[in-house]
Amino acid sequence: MRNRRAGQSFSALRNRAASIVSIYIRLKYSNKDGIVQCVTCPSRGHWQDFDSGHFLKGRSLSISNLLDERGQHPQCQTCNRVNDGAPKQYEAFMLKQYGQEVVDELRMNRRKVTKITSAELRDFIQAYRQKVKTLRFERRPCAGEPHYTDNLPF
Ligand SMILES: [Zn+2]
Repeated sequence: MRNRRAGQSFSALRNRAASIVSIYIRLKYSNKDGIVQCVTCPSRGHWQDFDSGHFLKGRSLSISNLLDERGQHPQCQTCNRVNDGAPKQYEAFMLKQYGQEVVDELRMNRRKVTKITSAELRDFIQAYRQKVKTLRFERRPCAGEPHYTDNLPF
């Protein structure tokens, strides 16, 4: 079964991994109605209308930053896309939530070249698919009915 995707490029795997973490993060912080709270403003909304906003941004974001759950939280599209992630508010949240040490660690990781193989990325994706399935089952509003997470793009 693994071999089915053996030809998939590393960057495609990296994108799939980032996208499943994004789904996981938004589901994880949603309430039973699927509502999440923006990490940087009072907005609330359905997790599918929100982004998973990264504390650290940029093209140079290392894979360890990209996949680190501590560095991403539900964020409304205005904060994430229009206000460039609302970095000041995000940092204030991070310091309160995790403390200076974790903030420093995440910033250090940005410069770190992480060696990760395609096989490790596939395992990572598989593990997160399972985590998403578990959350989806726990929050299933009515057993047996079709659920939006049945249509997730992976
Ligand atoms: Zn917001």
